[in-house]
Amino acid sequence: MSSMPRLFVNSDLVAGTPFDLDEEQAKYLTRVMRLGIGDAARVFNGRDGEWRAEISAVAGRRAEMTPSEQLREQPTQVAAALTLLFAPVKKSETDFIVEKATELGAGFIQPVITERTQSRTVRLDRFEKIALEASEQTERLDLPLLADALGLDAALEALPPGMALIFCDEAGDEADAPWGGQSGRARPMADVLEGLNGHAAAILIGPEGGFSPAERGFLRAREGTHPVSLGPRILRAETAAVAAMALWQAMCGDWGS
Ligand code: SAH
Repeated sequence: MSSMPRLFVNSDLVAGTPFDLDEEQAKYLTRVMRLGIGDAARVFNGRDGEWRAEISAVAGRRAEMTPSEQLREQPTQVAAALTLLFAPVKKSETDFIVEKATELGAGFIQPVITERTQSRTVRLDRFEKIALEASEQTERLDLPLLADALGLDAALEALPPGMALIFCDEAGDEADAPWGGQSGRARPMADVLEGLNGHAAAILIGPEGGFSPAERGFLRAREGTHPVSLGPRILRAETAAVAAMALWQAMCGDWGS
């Protein structure tokens, strides 16, 4: 693991072509990390791969860097193979979901307002800051795309045609079956993913109160929707999001061989 700091920058990264850091980043490198002219950091912009860049000028609050060597190529395949649709929950748990979705490689993160969603306000700027910091830390070469909150119907409408929807359905196949009972649960997610390997997928996670019967009926009737069970216990939304994304990456995504 390199000890060099790692920063997301908006500038193009071309060998020998200097670019300016924003004030916050200049302060971080020169004041917090106490770096100076000639010291290096790793930079990425989501388009040009990852580069080693040296500080080439410092003046007051400004700092300029010059890329010297490309360390990693920008992968050609789009990270949007995995989309997370989730109903916002309490603030810190929602922040947790955005950070873990970034670490787990989600290419697109879409907050969804469902009938039982408690927290209906979504701070997109806050999510973007969390995702950017998580992308730097997790050594991603891109940032996940984040969207403003949408209602369930609109969020599903906005999915690319043909994208499989993995509907994490805590209540299972028989609406009136006692939750957690032996009968009525949806198919195990791993079994469903067996048949979906290689497909881009959107994982849908509900709020603390789960999905309403009307929502579940609508979802189960929707073309390309696969209700799945995450086992016999009720998971918190943030646990379910991490568990489902991890399983998808292991079986269909970039954890596999
Ligand atoms: N309504 C539930 C709690 C919902 S948990 C209750 O009866 O208390 C929040 C979300 O996490 C659910 O909407 C679902 O998307 C997901 N989830 C939690 N546990 C799950 C499980 N065992 N199987 C499938 N999805 C689950």
